[in-house]
Amino acid sequence: MTATSQPAPSQTVTPLPNATILGYPRIGRRRELKRAIESFWKGATDEAQLGETARELRAATRTRLVELGLPATGGAVPESFSFYDQVLDATIALGAIPHRFADAVGSSDLTATFALARGDKDHQPLEMTKWFDTNYHYSVPELDEQTPLAANSAALVSYLAEAKEQGIESRPVLVGPVTYALLAKASDAAGEGFAPLDRLDEIVAVYAQLLADLAAAGAAWVQLDEPALVSDSLSVPRAEILALVERTYATLGGASARPAILLTAPYGDSAAALSRIAALPIEAVQADLVRGSLPESELADGSLAAAFEGTQFVAGVVDGRNIWRTNLRAALATATRLQDAGIATVIGTSNSLQHVPHDVSDETKLDARLRSWLAFADQKVEQVAILAKGLADAASVEAELAEVDAVLADRAAAPGVSTAAIRDRAAAVTAADRDRAPEGDRRDAQRALNIPELATTTIGSFPQTSEIRVARAAFARGEIDQAAYDGFLRAEIERVIRLQEEIGLDVLVHGEAERNDMVQYFAELLDGFAVTEHGWVQSYGTRATRPSILWGDVSRPAPMTVAWSVYAQSLTERPVKGMLTGPVTILAWSFVRDDLPLADTASQVALALRDEINDLVEAGIKIVQVDEPALRELLPLDADRQAAYLDWSVGAFRLATAGAASEVQIHTHLCYSEFGEIIDAVDGLDADVTSIEAARSRMDVVEPLGDHGYSRGIGPGVYDIHSPRVPSVAEQTELIQLAAARIPGEQLWVNPDCGLKTRGYEETVASLTNLVQAARAVRGA
Ligand code: GLN
Ligand code: ZN
Repeated sequence: MTATSQPAPSQTVTPLPNATILGYPRIGRRRELKRAIESFWKGATDEAQLGETARELRAATRTRLVELGLPATGGAVPESFSFYDQVLDATIALGAIPHRFADAVGSSDLTATFALARGDKDHQPLEMTKWFDTNYHYSVPELDEQTPLAANSAALVSYLAEAKEQGIESRPVLVGPVTYALLAKASDAAGEGFAPLDRLDEIVAVYAQLLADLAAAGAAWVQLDEPALVSDSLSVPRAEILALVERTYATLGGASARPAILLTAPYGDSAAALSRIAALPIEAVQADLVRGSLPESELADGSLAAAFEGTQFVAGVVDGRNIWRTNLRAALATATRLQDAGIATVIGTSNSLQHVPHDVSDETKLDARLRSWLAFADQKVEQVAILAKGLADAASVEAELAEVDAVLADRAAAPGVSTAAIRDRAAAVTAADRDRAPEGDRRDAQRALNIPELATTTIGSFPQTSEIRVARAAFARGEIDQAAYDGFLRAEIERVIRLQEEIGLDVLVHGEAERNDMVQYFAELLDGFAVTEHGWVQSYGTRATRPSILWGDVSRPAPMTVAWSVYAQSLTERPVKGMLTGPVTILAWSFVRDDLPLADTASQVALALRDEINDLVEAGIKIVQVDEPALRELLPLDADRQAAYLDWSVGAFRLATAGAASEVQIHTHLCYSEFGEIIDAVDGLDADVTSIEAARSRMDVVEPLGDHGYSRGIGPGVYDIHSPRVPSVAEQTELIQLAAARIPGEQLWVNPDCGLKTRGYEETVASLTNLVQAARAVRGA
């Protein structure tokens, strides 16, 4: 079937108004949804009460979006609410409940959602993984030949009806079928060779039913998100994904009863596919024009406009990944170019605003000048509305454009944004600054550390107890003074050191009790960063993080970790690791500046860390761990951009660590097991010891490292810290043996998968005690 020969939908299409966003934060301005859900989980409220809070939140969001300038009619307001996760919502809408949950889902969509998301003592929850190149995690769908598939449009239809009652014609939003199938994994019950994609046609048929239900409920538009279109990191090549999208939307577009379809391609560059997507029998197509680009030659020769004949183009010119005020003049120029080419253009965001906080006007403690440069979700919606007005009549928004010109000029000239000494130092970095002595020399020099074979250690944090949180909050509120707080932390460090000695670990940590968060802690101590009060962004489910804002050139006014590490080392004969967060992770989990290449910012952060390592070593610390759990996360979705990324990210880590003399042992920690793709980069970090997640995948990571000829220290996790379960000695022994079969013992370290901050003490002590015994058992064998 060819896409263009499909009939148009039978009903007449109301065009999408010329301003829209792809989605809005759903956690609530004060994280109301988190509190409501967690109190429901505790049994303090019932399903009806939670339902009511959620309904109020949805209503308030719609009202707010209209107040901020989105048209109330015509489908401009998206229905992007979710109790937990949008991919999980699609699983529920498809009725795709894995068989293993059949006895656990309860009687409502809500109980099913939480059962799948959280599991219980008899059911492992759905796996969670990162959503494209963001720090948001979705619940991975599980499919096999038997997984039921049947349309369940209840939530979609009820949200639409709620909106109608408010006098708003909203636009239901769903993860699209191709992306859904590509993000799903085969369940354990699947037959050999089964791939979720095998069921795409059935999935598409269910989507057709969902669309029919929405049309019957009066939806004018529906939004189907297909970020798979911009990714080279999925199980099939991008050219094939485009073919699947064409086949799928030819079918969906040809359905007789359906709303008008807006197909979106957020998070990356869809330029190469744009003409083909636009030619599909659907009514609107979105492209991310912040991360992505326009197919310039097709725009110039008129073929793009021809493809968009009868299709609206939602130009994603307002950045949904960052918190800077949009350069309105530049964004309007882009949209105007499209409109002048004869393309029916709608102003939109690059992606859902779920990745930015609600409202910058809540940040009353932020420096007023910095605040004037920022735009959170509410401000982005206003920017979309201004641009839409300007698209119709540029002169009518000249005052707003001029205001932003002034803001951008103010930002460029503000002290701290560009500091000559920092720029000069970064510019003077040479290749030699990124190189340590040869590996063999380092190995020899580090023998003085007397570290045994199969050395045992942990990843850094010990349980963050409620006492620690209470003390931190009391200090923040000024109820206890610095001396009292420091005294509390020293006592905590001493306790953690003694505990590790008792357990018998070889290389100790101070436990990170002073850190609220592994990035924010450093952001608060480095110049060039600001932290927010209410800038929460959903990470997964009810969890949110408050990314710091990296606004200026980065430098280190004073040592950040030295006093704690030195104190910890003073308490013990065994080596204590210094503990730092690496440059890439600091960038990945902050909002970064858009006025300097990320690579340059990374060098600045790396140099600050390099000075910190130097100070640690001078103060007697002999082992320093530099965590890079986000190295894989920032890998561009676009294969063409990956080499450049890996070059600067690995370079930044090396710049941070290469000042360390041979006798200093540099460790790193990576938080994921799938690094086949970046194994050269992991090797390129040139760390003396690398710890990685491995317990859940039963040491699958070790084989590729062995095949790769990895020659330095490696600590595949033998204790899965994601659950309170205590792994037995036998179980951990077996994992160590599995690893030892592929990696020589002198390279092998024994450690948990990740930090212990989310765990309780009881299970931690039991698990680490077993870990030490397991290491001894294998050593003795
Ligand atoms: N050192 C950190 C910790 O143990 C590492 C955390 C992480 O990998 N996310 O908490
Ligand atoms: Zn980790």
